[in-house]
Amino acid sequence: MNNALTSAKAAYKLTHILDLYSQVHGTRRFPVDVVELAKDAANQFGWSDPITQVEAADIKGFEGALFPNDDKSAWCLLYNNAMKSPGRIRFTQAHELGHYLLHRQQQAIFQCGEDDVVNREESEISTEAQADSFAAALLMPRNDFMAQMDGCADFEGLSACAERYGVSLTAATLRWLKHTDRQAVLVVHRDGYMNWAFSSQAAARNGAFFPSRRQLMAIPEKSLAADESVSLDRSGTEIAASTWFPHARDGLSLQEMKIAANEYDTVMTLLLLPRGASVWQPWENQD
Ligand SMILES: [Zn+2]
Repeated sequence: MNNALTSAKAAYKLTHILDLYSQVHGTRRFPVDVVELAKDAANQFGWSDPITQVEAADIKGFEGALFPNDDKSAWCLLYNNAMKSPGRIRFTQAHELGHYLLHRQQQAIFQCGEDDVVNREESEISTEAQADSFAAALLMPRNDFMAQMDGCADFEGLSACAERYGVSLTAATLRWLKHTDRQAVLVVHRDGYMNWAFSSQAAARNGAFFPSRRQLMAIPEKSLAADESVSLDRSGTEIAASTWFPHARDGLSLQEMKIAANEYDTVMTLLLLPRGASVWQPWENQD
């Protein structure tokens, strides 16, 4: 029964098949051809209701959709390709494939919104979060990703990975932040205010996070992010950590990187703190 299939198991199984295929045939492993994989998925899992159509559709207000024919013997996967980058389209296709693999028994039709697909509010039980998690694991297998980064922790390395996997820089950065042991924070901002921010576990544990979903947060004045004369800094500039984190001790610095994400009309800032550095207010420190 596919009820037991989780996003991790489904992605692992397909990753294994894709690894073998490219080894045997000597073909390129990345980026994943999601269209071909979707059409072959029922075959791989031994199911009788395949995805038979994968088509672009320019329908306002949705990124992707999945629905069956009348007797549920075949499925159609639609994706919006209007003004979208290949990376976003690939992520959307993989997200819908995730719904097909994981959720089609519990829901008949899936229509996925125009939210930023790679940065939904996370809730382990939500089908949307599970489909996202499947898509990220399928497109950017963890072992390969961490081997590619190999100690590197900047937009240089992350841009190269985004290129390798055919995904947006946002999707690649989030994937890295969820698995790295480095203290790093991604801040996505526009017009001087944060749209959202995401911290690696090590960063959050040491107080380096921004509650940008709960309150309007301004970009600090002396940051590289606020400096309009700099539009690109992939490898980073050293600045005082207290610029971003007021409780950081004197003398502590961090690497600040910056890149304009034209696709979303936003700017992405990556902050990298030294290992082990805490920026909690002293009396909040639980250690
Ligand atoms: Zn969805």
